[in-house]
Amino acid sequence: MPRIAYVNGRYLSHRDAFVHVEDRGYQFADGVYEVCEVARGYIVDMGPHLDRLDRSLKELSIAWPVSRKALTIIMREVVRHNRVIDGLVYLQVTRGVASRDFVFPANAKPSLVVLARKADPGFQARRATTGIKVITVPENRWERVDIKSVGLLPNVLAKQKAKEAGCQEAWFVDTDGMVKEGGSSNAWIVTRDGVLVTRPADHGILRGITRTTLFKVASRLGLKIEERPFAVEEAMRAREAFISSATTIVLPVVEIDGRPIANGEPGSVALSLREAFFDVAEKSRA
Ligand code: PMP
Repeated sequence: MPRIAYVNGRYLSHRDAFVHVEDRGYQFADGVYEVCEVARGYIVDMGPHLDRLDRSLKELSIAWPVSRKALTIIMREVVRHNRVIDGLVYLQVTRGVASRDFVFPANAKPSLVVLARKADPGFQARRATTGIKVITVPENRWERVDIKSVGLLPNVLAKQKAKEAGCQEAWFVDTDGMVKEGGSSNAWIVTRDGVLVTRPADHGILRGITRTTLFKVASRLGLKIEERPFAVEEAMRAREAFISSATTIVLPVVEIDGRPIANGEPGSVALSLREAFFDVAEKSRA
């Protein structure tokens, strides 16, 4: 069965799904994106993802390519066409097609692409039972990483470096030695007293939708959260560490820069957050 993509008004097989060579997403990374998890036939936290899309678009003065209602229908259609029960749906909006010039084009129409793909629902669950390894890298991104822009070259390079080191994620670290976030995830630790710690999301990191939902999960489990920066040193001495993102939910971190966290096994707090996540997240039938 060929995979189907939505491209500017049409549902096309991937073989025929193209964007224009002068799309500003391609030339300038002048665009934004969202990724929603699809789990058991539901799109997870679609509302909050579209709220964040709205914010990203406003920050860059890009108009919605279609109405929010139409976008939800397109997302569901793409999930359905690709028969995704477990996997993800990806959407990307760029400023559109125009003759190459840095300043905003006068009347380009925003481009919209929506993709969906299946994933083995057991894959992340198995990773959660072994945990993942993380390297740290110096922060080298721009200051507006709160905007979910498609300009992800530093993230690509950091994650490639992690892979070459036999690790699965890279944590960006600021000049004070404080952890910012992962290449494609938010970073958390659990202190010796069982308190969850994650960096405030006012600026300098992406306000992860999974991160926000985990605040609700934690309160349901009676866990305390402190929003404050934490140092790499503190993470290495923590009781647990973990990452969160839409496609991984919660994955325990068992090693940072080659140093094991606690006994080097996935932590129970991370696993219980993971376990309770789906009960708390918003679910829309795909
Ligand atoms: N930070 C970065 C840099 C990311 O790319 C992601 C994943 N999109 C996240 C955090 C986690 O965000 P979310 O929980 O919304 O997937």
